[in-house]
Amino acid sequence: MAGKSFFIDTTKCTGCRGCQAACKQWNQNPGTKTTQRGTYQNPADLSAATFKLVRFSEETAASGEPRWYFFPDQCRHCLYPLCKMEADKKAPGAVTLDTKTRAVIFDPAVKMSPEAFKGIREICPFDIPRHDAKTGGMSKCTMCFDRISAGLLPACVKSCPTGTMNFGDRDAILKMA
Ligand code: SF4
Ligand code: SF4
Ligand code: SF4
Repeated sequence: MAGKSFFIDTTKCTGCRGCQAACKQWNQNPGTKTTQRGTYQNPADLSAATFKLVRFSEETAASGEPRWYFFPDQCRHCLYPLCKMEADKKAPGAVTLDTKTRAVIFDPAVKMSPEAFKGIREICPFDIPRHDAKTGGMSKCTMCFDRISAGLLPACVKSCPTGTMNFGDRDAILKMA
């Protein structure tokens, strides 16, 4: 199937959060107030202002050494996006699928009831969509549709210094994976 895909190689991620900051910057999302919760992961979760979050899983090995695992979390831009199927029923136009890139894009101008949003969030297998109290619509990662339409890499991929974040034609990305 044609289109674009991400490959996130978690074996290379250092948890630097450059991708998370780049996502905020490009999307002009405001900073999120955080608190010390006993983890280096901040903020605690995705939100209408945080489309990308590096999740930290912190453990202590039997030897007493710290073990850190990092997972840069964001929308997977599913081939068959369940969020769109649900939105088509509950809030038509809120989610669209670009047939060329297969980016799953939300329209913040489409307002939805909390009930409708609940259904859209719950059907996503990865718990990605968030409700934006400011717009009354949904929000999530856009695949940096404006950037990729201009031939640029998504901001999170461009900023990653380790090769964890990769993006390109789906066939090439599948080979890489
Ligand atoms: Fe897939 Fe969820 Fe992203 Fe929709 S919001 S494309 S269901 S990961
Ligand atoms: Fe954020 Fe763009 Fe990366 Fe999506 S593709 S996580 S919107 S920087
Ligand atoms: Fe990991 Fe790359 Fe993001 Fe840094 S920029 S947290 S290495 S994915």
